[in-house]
Amino acid sequence: ANLRELLLSRIRDVPDYPKPGVVFKDITPLLADPVAFNALVDALAEMCARHGATKVVGLEARGFILAAPAAARAGLGFVPVRKAGKLPGPTLTQSYELEYGTAQIEVHADAMTDGDRVLVIDDVLATGGTAEASLELVRRCGATVAGVAVMLELGFLGGRQRLAPSLGGAPLEAL
Ligand code: 5GP
Repeated sequence: ANLRELLLSRIRDVPDYPKPGVVFKDITPLLADPVAFNALVDALAEMCARHGATKVVGLEARGFILAAPAAARAGLGFVPVRKAGKLPGPTLTQSYELEYGTAQIEVHADAMTDGDRVLVIDDVLATGGTAEASLELVRRCGATVAGVAVMLELGFLGGRQRLAPSLGGAPLEAL
């Protein structure tokens, strides 16, 4: 019944990863637990339905693991947003700021169209930079943002505030 407690109990803190002073939230114990993983996919699929999504975007790489089964369970198509240089077809590229330097993500230009309502799914919302860039890609394809769904929001990093303008009133839900 208490999804939140179940999920939290299956997330492992890894200190000093990927660098000293950072506590990484490792979701692999959750993925390895069939009850917790299934409950998570169910909750994400329910969000797809509740927000009237017509497509689901997953963010490389852990976002793929959650978004693909959620999309299939909700009866929707899945769209991968990938790191630059991985997609074979014509792409749209979006740059975003990292702590040091910039990164690029890409989507196939024809993966979403103006009739689509798109739910973006990732495992963890940290600074919000990745999710923000993905919302720009959704808009640049001409599609509507249905919302962003993450398993875990690291609230102290301010991702929700950073994302607000790109969400344009659409919901950000953290399980
Ligand atoms: P942001 O762009 O919000 O700063 O970082 C979010 C992205 O980095 C997500 O794609 C997420 O997978 C990854 N990420 C950042 N911190 C963590 C973490 O502590 N645990 C996991 N599993 N992913 C993280």
